[in-house]
Amino acid sequence: CGIVAYIGPREAYPVILKGLKRLEYRGYDSSGVALLNGSGLQVHKKKGKVAELEETLQGKDLHSHIGIGHTRWATHGEPSDRNAHPHTSASGRLAMIHNGIIENYAQLKQDLINKGYTFHSDTDTEVLLNFIEDILKNNNSSLEEAVRIALKRVVGAYVIVLIDNETPDTLIAARKGSPLVIGIGKNEHFLASDASPIIEYTKEVVYVNDYEMAIIKPDELILKNLGNERQTPFITKLDMEL
Ligand code: GLU
Repeated sequence: CGIVAYIGPREAYPVILKGLKRLEYRGYDSSGVALLNGSGLQVHKKKGKVAELEETLQGKDLHSHIGIGHTRWATHGEPSDRNAHPHTSASGRLAMIHNGIIENYAQLKQDLINKGYTFHSDTDTEVLLNFIEDILKNNNSSLEEAVRIALKRVVGAYVIVLIDNETPDTLIAARKGSPLVIGIGKNEHFLASDASPIIEYTKEVVYVNDYEMAIIKPDELILKNLGNERQTPFITKLDMEL
């Protein structure tokens, strides 16, 4: 399983697609992408190989400079199109990818159902996403704050990346237990589960630590811990060749 994301001046989809192929060796049962552009959020996901996803997207207008991509190894819910990531929040505003397991998802899901939420997948991921959206609405907070509040209540392991139709210049990512590498380019950032999708674009990477969040714009990378304290990104130079 794996995650890839991109923000910057390139076309996001080809970067993400190539990245997903480089992560195939990790194993997976489905894949998907979410892209944002001036006309909104589009999400495409499919059970099976990345090549099958690619095939269904032939000829579509996928123009975008910000996007997320995922290969799933099912833990909650069978491998299927509907359980594949990215998931979309109830309002349609947010899309999220997740590797890992949210252990206390059942309780969170029941609380959200009691509040009137309905779910379109069997995943723990969709629960976390709507939990974040619920906090976002009720606290009138920024997405960054809502993610921070939500993650303090989450038990489990995760790497997550979110895109938000209302802030199309920002990716939000966080990790605990599952790996996250951020590649730093010129006015662009690449996110992935390991450096293999990144190395052809930049040799400068940051390995995000557990319990850290990243707020990422094309020309800015902010790292914070879940206590909202800024952390200094430690930049590593990759020396491996393609
Ligand atoms: N637990 C999530 C799911 O079943 C993520 C699985 C993964 O790590 O790919 O959809």
